[in-house]
Amino acid sequence: MRKELNGKTRTCGLLGNPVEHTLSPLIHNSLAEMKDINMVYVPFLVDIPEIATAVKGAYALNLLGMNATVPFKSDVIPYLMEVDELASDIGAVNTLVRTDGGYKGYNTDMSGLYRAMQSENIILEQADIIILGAGGAARAVAYMCANYGAEHITILNRTLPKAQAIATEINESMKKKGRWVEDCMEAMPLHAYTELPDRRYIVIQSTSVGLHPHIDDVVIEDKKFYEKVSIGFDLIYKPAETKFMKLVKEAGGEAYNGLKMLLYQGVIAFELWNDVKVTEEEAMMVYAKLEEAVRV
Ligand code: NAP
Repeated sequence: MRKELNGKTRTCGLLGNPVEHTLSPLIHNSLAEMKDINMVYVPFLVDIPEIATAVKGAYALNLLGMNATVPFKSDVIPYLMEVDELASDIGAVNTLVRTDGGYKGYNTDMSGLYRAMQSENIILEQADIIILGAGGAARAVAYMCANYGAEHITILNRTLPKAQAIATEINESMKKKGRWVEDCMEAMPLHAYTELPDRRYIVIQSTSVGLHPHIDDVVIEDKKFYEKVSIGFDLIYKPAETKFMKLVKEAGGEAYNGLKMLLYQGVIAFELWNDVKVTEEEAMMVYAKLEEAVRV
């Protein structure tokens, strides 16, 4: 059972709009209980124009740390003391960690996705990657794949200019950092998947297509596409098995949903706030609770 809240309880919370369906309180309050840390995590519904006041207010109220979710992941950045390099590249922060004088921003969505992939033994280094979608999540996924050594990345999106903008930005950023000597990322319209060279790809499904309750929707229906997929990773976790995942499996590939990404983004934020290490066993206990919570 959770200990009594008292005068030494530290508070963390979520800045978002909306916040009612968040699973973050389940992750953090479970971890606090497991680790016997006197911390409580609560959601804060913030009016969109009030984000600056909310970040400054959180600091003034001595809150230990915050998560930021839609629509604030970029909007919080001007109000931070410092931003971690990966989060700064991505231009999105989901975790605020208290430091002297203000919060430091991190992007644990991406380190969380990386840890989720590691836990499934998915190797990004030297991999040929396809990213479906070019929204906020896809952009961050692209940075993560580039940073962790992908050999080639193809981004496909219904609206081509959005995919092109991400590919251009990442090619420039990686060349500037000396990690790539030439362009390793290219953009294509979604329907051009038929022109992809015959290789085996890791495909990261980063569109919102297939999200509950639209569980029979999928961004590419054609079974031929799935013959090229060795591993399919869907960022969606509700339903637990999306149509995309079913098609990957039917074609003989491995498929994973985004629930472990959600888990590990929380685990990493918790570790940053409390300066502790969460064991795999503890993380899996929280994962079981998440699986129960998203069951439809
Ligand atoms: P977003 O910025 O709204 O982007 C949505 C993307 O989906 C765009 O590329 C959009 O294409 C595409 N799309 C939407 N409807 C489409 C359709 N009918 N046909 C083809 N493409 C379509 O959303 P986001 O923030 O990137 O999030 C994307 C997904 O990732 C969501 O399902 C979200 O739940 C999931 N996510 C999961 C986690 C996790 O922890 N597991 C974390 C973050 C996000 P256009 O550009 O052409 O509109």
